[in-house]
Amino acid sequence: MNKYLYFISMSLEEIKEIKIVYILAIIFYLLFFLSIGSFLNVLIYRLPKGLSIIKNSSHCPNCGYKIKWYENIPIISYLLLRGKCSNCKEKIAIRYFIVEILSLLIAIISLIRFDLSYTSIIVTLLLEIFVVIFYIDKNEMIIPDVLNIIILILSIISLFFVNITSHNQEIIIDYKDKLISIVINIVIFVIFIIIEKIIQKSIIGGGDLKLFFGIGIFMGWQLELLGIVLACIIGVVFEILFFKTSKRKVLPFGPYLVCGFTISLFFGPDLILWYLGLF
Ligand SMILES: [Zn+2]
Repeated sequence: MNKYLYFISMSLEEIKEIKIVYILAIIFYLLFFLSIGSFLNVLIYRLPKGLSIIKNSSHCPNCGYKIKWYENIPIISYLLLRGKCSNCKEKIAIRYFIVEILSLLIAIISLIRFDLSYTSIIVTLLLEIFVVIFYIDKNEMIIPDVLNIIILILSIISLFFVNITSHNQEIIIDYKDKLISIVINIVIFVIFIIIEKIIQKSIIGGGDLKLFFGIGIFMGWQLELLGIVLACIIGVVFEILFFKTSKRKVLPFGPYLVCGFTISLFFGPDLILWYLGLF
């Protein structure tokens, strides 16, 4: 880490030394990501519809009732309103509640894994975007470009802050592994283009390929490829277990990809170590 970045991270170290400030920082961190949960719901609802994400306050999709601020408190409001619009009593999708809980859970898990650090903040933001991709791709079969752009920005920031290691530090993913991923992803991209040209059929979404580029820079080529393999395994298992009767023609790959990448991000280096140890 260069001196300048070390200087910035010093302040976080200093924060940790004073207990009460540390506790307050953690509370602020959790509250911040709890409030982000509501925003994720806005993204999931509005992005595919092409609606503005900043203009217009939240309203009931059924009766158009403008939701008051105290009816929009993450997690709590859903429970108090018992999952219904206070005006027309129409049910509010359980997704709103799940996404708000997930947003908080992700922040807690990152905190446990990476402590209060720039890494945990950037990882949490990445996983929160994963939640949005999961829902939008599951429902609409697209990954909006803006989400891939946010991931790319997080990835470039991660070049300076995020080094992912195995627990014994034997495997360290650094910026070289991240930069190599760009070359590998160009190769993957070209291979898919050639295959699609030959068989005259689309086999992977453009959004998925763009996601590969951002993720490769974020977690290095090794963890990216591992994540894709995991996504394929999870995808095959789920499609067989839950969708065998529906015979879906086009499968959304995004939800499986974000699951594979998440596992790879947290356990990838240790999984690779374990795998290498088999030989
Ligand atoms: Zn309503």
